[in-house]
Amino acid sequence: MKDLSEESTVYQYGSGYGVEAVMNCPIPEEDIPYCSHGPTVLFERFFKDRESRKFFACSASRNRKECTFFQWFDDKLTPGKKLIQKEIKKQIFIKGKKKAVKVVIEGDFWCYECSSGFSSENKHIHKDHETKLLTRNDLKCPTQFLNPSESKKAKAQYFFDEPTCNFFLTSIKRLQFKNVICIGTPRLFELVRAADISTILLDLDSRYEYFYSSEEFFLYNLYTHFFFDKGSIEKAFKNLVSKCTPEETLIILDPPFGGLLTLLEKTLSKIWSLFNEETVPTMMVFPYFLENHVCQNLPSLLMHDYKVSYSNHLTYRNVKHGRGSPVRIYTNISGDKLSLPKEDYKFCKTCQRYVYKENRHCQECNVCTSKDGRTYIHCKECTKCVKPGSVHCPTCKSCKPSNHKCGVLSTAGCHICGESDHKRRDCPKKIAENEELSMKLKIKRKSIATEDNRRKKKKKSVK
Ligand code: SAH
Ligand code: ZN
Ligand code: ZN
Ligand code: ZN
Ligand code: ZN
Repeated sequence: MKDLSEESTVYQYGSGYGVEAVMNCPIPEEDIPYCSHGPTVLFERFFKDRESRKFFACSASRNRKECTFFQWFDDKLTPGKKLIQKEIKKQIFIKGKKKAVKVVIEGDFWCYECSSGFSSENKHIHKDHETKLLTRNDLKCPTQFLNPSESKKAKAQYFFDEPTCNFFLTSIKRLQFKNVICIGTPRLFELVRAADISTILLDLDSRYEYFYSSEEFFLYNLYTHFFFDKGSIEKAFKNLVSKCTPEETLIILDPPFGGLLTLLEKTLSKIWSLFNEETVPTMMVFPYFLENHVCQNLPSLLMHDYKVSYSNHLTYRNVKHGRGSPVRIYTNISGDKLSLPKEDYKFCKTCQRYVYKENRHCQECNVCTSKDGRTYIHCKECTKCVKPGSVHCPTCKSCKPSNHKCGVLSTAGCHICGESDHKRRDCPKKIAENEELSMKLKIKRKSIATEDNRRKKKKKSVK
């Protein structure tokens, strides 16, 4: 018989047949089973001809090779399973209780095989391993030498390249943020920290415990807003937040692109509510072709034209030719404030935001309509702007590539995101290989007119 649980790792954006997260889990929080990534998430699998079925699975990884936890919702908890649960929780809570690792100092070593730091007296333990002597500079910039794929817990690590790092840092300084909460952005964290701006890092990658103190680094799962302990670390985080003025704080996150936005929405709402605000200045990094999903789940975050590029991603570096990276910034910071580098961007007075230099303000649509950076063309039949090179097809009643076959879904592009400019294996951050996402993306055009709703509150900043 086919292993249904294997099949259940399939996620799907939007509705339809596939798997969706159940937002209102009917059982109390303390009864939710844990995997090594913290509390699991209740999912529901829909079938064409059968009743749907619910199950618990890992919140952080959809790749069953990375996290093997699986449990049907209606499965009886056998004594064996209860024991396993007890053990998993014990492991997690031990980790949080006493800091298991010592922060490395200059002259210590890093072991690539064990993914850990050690001092010279423990050299014999790593005798045949690939190791590195840690210089003073290494301690400040671990993302420069840590292997991006070395982490077992969070596979997809793509670090921002220098121009993107600089863009973020310049924006932080210009907008005068005093505190920066980095979620899944370890390289940016390094840079902000070096610039002497008060900042913390929340990330699932425990290797950073070797480089930062418990006041700076929080082992964290962004899909469940889970800190790896019974509550004292979360308390420390809350305490820190309580000293931040919301309008002087920026939250920056670069979540895996395959992750569920319904879960991210919950997480961000939780963090924002700690500030007693509906929203706090936030920048989320996500591809432009998932804009309609962000719109649905996080309507306060609007997409901007800035092309976020990575140093170690072949497809999403900003190369001279071609369209460059499809990754963008979604933010609730108003468009007129988020100024983009003059070399490649211009200000549109009507839209009140900076746009890519080739983005044309369409009189009919009354917005700057380009999403991928190319100049879009208005189609009277579709009553919207379309990608250049497409022609209006009367049979399909929409604009299609000139070589398309009527009624046939294009198989040339990426099965994961539906884009035609790359194959599934090049999809942003390589969404887990064994999933079968198929989606048709209709990108809702939305005016990027933003409102500035920062309310002044007098609180002290962290520093
Ligand atoms: N562009 C960023 C790095 C993004 S890589 C930069 O240059 O700073 C994605 C990051 O998210 C990794 O550091 C990874 O460890 C982290 N991550 C992945 N899944 C996560 C999860 N469920 N919770 C928290 N962090 C996660
Ligand atoms: Zn070793
Ligand atoms: Zn415009
Ligand atoms: Zn138009
Ligand atoms: Zn058309």
